[in-house]
Amino acid sequence: MATSVKLITGAVMPIIGLGTWKSAPGEVSKAVKAAISAGYRHIDGAFIYQNEVEVGEGIQAMIKDGVVKREELFVVSKLWCTFHEKSKVRQACEKTLSDLKLTYLDLYLVHWPMGFKAGDDPFPLDSKDEIIPDDSDYLQTWEGLEELVDAGLVKAIGVSNFNRDQIERLLNKPGLKYKPANNQVECHPFLCQEKLIDYCQSQGIAVTAYSPLGSPDRPWAKPGDPSLLEDPEIKAIAKKHNKTSAQVLIRFHIQRNVIVIPKSVTPHRIQENFEVFDFQLSAEDMKTILGFNRNWRVCGMHWSVNHKDYPFHAEF
Ligand code: NDP
Repeated sequence: MATSVKLITGAVMPIIGLGTWKSAPGEVSKAVKAAISAGYRHIDGAFIYQNEVEVGEGIQAMIKDGVVKREELFVVSKLWCTFHEKSKVRQACEKTLSDLKLTYLDLYLVHWPMGFKAGDDPFPLDSKDEIIPDDSDYLQTWEGLEELVDAGLVKAIGVSNFNRDQIERLLNKPGLKYKPANNQVECHPFLCQEKLIDYCQSQGIAVTAYSPLGSPDRPWAKPGDPSLLEDPEIKAIAKKHNKTSAQVLIRFHIQRNVIVIPKSVTPHRIQENFEVFDFQLSAEDMKTILGFNRNWRVCGMHWSVNHKDYPFHAEF
């Protein structure tokens, strides 16, 4: 089973990466080091996670110790919504690079299709608690990302949380210079994304699954919400393979050729989440897991449902 996915740029993207959303600055350097020691070569970060300095410290420590070379790592970051004006894209990327102490990113994503009012507040809200948009269009934002490729600051560019129509609009952009290499979207058994994955893969766009374990540490979790890790059917599949529920949830993506980025700051879980290349879910297991689909989202971004570019009104 492949341990990587080839991007349209020709680059090889490791199929498992370490997620870093909610990883506290005081914990994330250790998590990055544990991941690289366990064999991870892909780290998923973002400006908005407010921990890129510490992610960078973990990466730099492992390079300095000779455990890994920069070119063996695949580092991903994302442009936040308050930097969607084309003129702001480069400064946002340069801030991320300087925080990470890197000279280039392997992949830079437009984090969400919606642009927010520029400024110091990453979530500018009006009196009704709704996001204040800017007047950008992600097609212009994309031109800013294309310039980063030409300047050598990023090797590949992609999108995140884009629906099918938004991707199609981007692919049809007059004068498009680089196609998106990747779409990073929420994906787990409660949101299987079959149609979106089929569409992206048919266009040569690799898909990355975020919140693969159902994001149990999401800040808005409520008692009574469904839990993938505690689900008896997932547990039964795991038991049959002598694996854990987390390993089954991660393996589910690998067998669909989908990149997966489980987050953990716990060294033994970081290790566990990487031990998924020595078993195979049966066609029956995959069918059972796909049967969980119920369009349940961790990241609905409800403050921006009225934004012109909100992605989740569409079926997929
Ligand atoms: P995940 O589904 O990866 O779940 C993370 C949670 O699961 C943490 O509480 C972690 O605990 C726990 N956990 C990890 N491994 C295990 C295990 N083996 N057994 C039991 N519990 C475990 O959630 P995320 O929402 O963080 O998604 C993963 C990554 O995807 C993010 O960190 C981020 O990089 C990316 N992402 C991108 C988004 C986007 O808009 N593009 C949106 C959301 C996420 P602990 O850390 O305490 O070990």
